[in-house]
Amino acid sequence: MSLLDNRESPSNEQKRYVAAVCPEYQPYVELSNKSNRLENEISCDGCIHWQDGRCGIFDEVLTGLDQT
Ligand code: SF4
Repeated sequence: MSLLDNRESPSNEQKRYVAAVCPEYQPYVELSNKSNRLENEISCDGCIHWQDGRCGIFDEVLTGLDQT
């Protein structure tokens, strides 16, 4: 299955993949304030640029991921 499937509603897996490599990833919560970093999984869900289930560069980053 391609990462580009289901582009209208990105899966949690896609959001983790994208956030892990995205140069614009910016978490809401500062890591220094987090005692348990395992709870603060890197994902677009925790990024300030993620609005209403989407982000302007999400597709761009995802497309880059899908090309090997
Ligand atoms: S929400 Fe946008 S800026 Fe933030 S990590 Fe995801 S693709 Fe990158």
